[in-house]
Amino acid sequence: MSSPFAIPPEKLTTLAIEGLDAVFPVNRVYCIGRNYAAHAREMGGDPTREAPFFFMKPADSAVSCPSDLRVDLPYPTMTESYHFEAEMVVALGKGGQNIAESDALAHVFGYGAGLDMTRRDRQDEAKAARRPWEVGKCADHSAPVGLLRRASEIGHPEHGTIRLDVDGQVRQQSVLEAMIWRVPEQIAILSQFFTLKAGDLIFTGTPEGVGAIERLETIKVEIEGLAPLMVRYV
Ligand code: MN
Repeated sequence: MSSPFAIPPEKLTTLAIEGLDAVFPVNRVYCIGRNYAAHAREMGGDPTREAPFFFMKPADSAVSCPSDLRVDLPYPTMTESYHFEAEMVVALGKGGQNIAESDALAHVFGYGAGLDMTRRDRQDEAKAARRPWEVGKCADHSAPVGLLRRASEIGHPEHGTIRLDVDGQVRQQSVLEAMIWRVPEQIAILSQFFTLKAGDLIFTGTPEGVGAIERLETIKVEIEGLAPLMVRYV
């Protein structure tokens, strides 16, 4: 039988799930900007006055990085300043529009440790020229995610440490309760702008301390209660 596709379709992007052979199919990747006050200030923002804002990464920028294994990814082209941003990632198991904050967590399948990797030089140029952020935010392999843990197993992380080390040195350290917009608020607000779908990921923002990595440095993200994420750009 002939294929229904005129050209071979790309493979679906998937993430590994702890305790399951089945994998999580990635639909869209949403990210919230400046969601920790101290990071908003380091990026020149005013956390007391700004409403949340969102951007997206392509689904195939997500890379599954199962725990206990360091994953080597290609260092991206067209940057001299590739920045790490440690973030908790929410994986949606159910979609919807205009989701009530009180009902939002029922849409969550699970959580993972993630990195919103950013070509900061390209993003800074885009900001200065009032251009879109894609070349800064959407590099290939720019959204690694650790092994997902299911909300049915671990509940919904709202407290605890989020930390990022580069070659064993702490570079980012905060707590999840320092988020300006909590996960239920993020889901509720996003669902006013977009029809959320099962398979969507939400990168929930990064604390202060973002910085550039060099090739071959090991980045480790640890979030209390979640599987660690360890990657190296080579
Ligand atoms: Mn980010």
